[in-house]
Amino acid sequence: MSCRRGALIVLEGVDRAGKTTQCQKLVQAIQQSGRAAEIMRFPDRTTKIGQLISSYLEKKSNLEDHTVHLLFSANRWEMVPVMKQKLEEGINLVVDRYAFSGVAFTSAKPGFSLEWCMNPDVGLPKPDLVMFLQLNPNVAANRGEYGNERYETSAFQRTVQQRFEELMQDTSINWKVIDAARTIEEVHKDIKDLSENIISLAEEQPVGELWR
Ligand code: ADP
Repeated sequence: MSCRRGALIVLEGVDRAGKTTQCQKLVQAIQQSGRAAEIMRFPDRTTKIGQLISSYLEKKSNLEDHTVHLLFSANRWEMVPVMKQKLEEGINLVVDRYAFSGVAFTSAKPGFSLEWCMNPDVGLPKPDLVMFLQLNPNVAANRGEYGNERYETSAFQRTVQQRFEELMQDTSINWKVIDAARTIEEVHKDIKDLSENIISLAEEQPVGELWR
């Protein structure tokens, strides 16, 4: 390898847990330490598939539940060549939601098993670190009104939280639970420290394959 690879770092959590805020602060902190870092977010609403998802989330269109799950997965897969390229170039990727959100949200709907939901994402680049921003969904709801997008209700978010807890039983993933009820700076410090460690470790290892 011509240079050390970047780390794949994912932030997960229910809506309003602070993922976007913390992803931005983490990218800035990594850059300030003299390393390359970029933010990515899923769904990536800029692609053709992402536009279908966006229209669905905004309730401008309806899609069958299995179909929309596969579109979310396809939206991650379509970014894989770019992700691999950036990691190989030594760019650390900080990702705002990934396959775990995809599985947690669909499996919160009636009639969907975790296993069925995980299958389309098997083999994606495996995150070196997944930080779960833990926040009681009732507290999250107090951080501002839920918007009008699909899924933005307290009851649904509580079920999503339960599905995340099931996913976190999987010890093949490097999960770290972060108490997201603290101040933005306190949460950031934990996230930064964990990320610095993993960036050093990831340099020595190839990128893994998720759930394989
Ligand atoms: P997410 O991406 O998880 O939905 P955001 O980062 O968009 O969450 O944050 C949701 C709202 O909560 C924003 O208004 C943000 O400023 C606020 N917020 C984020 N982190 C905290 C925190 N630690 N304490 C209080 N409010 C926060």
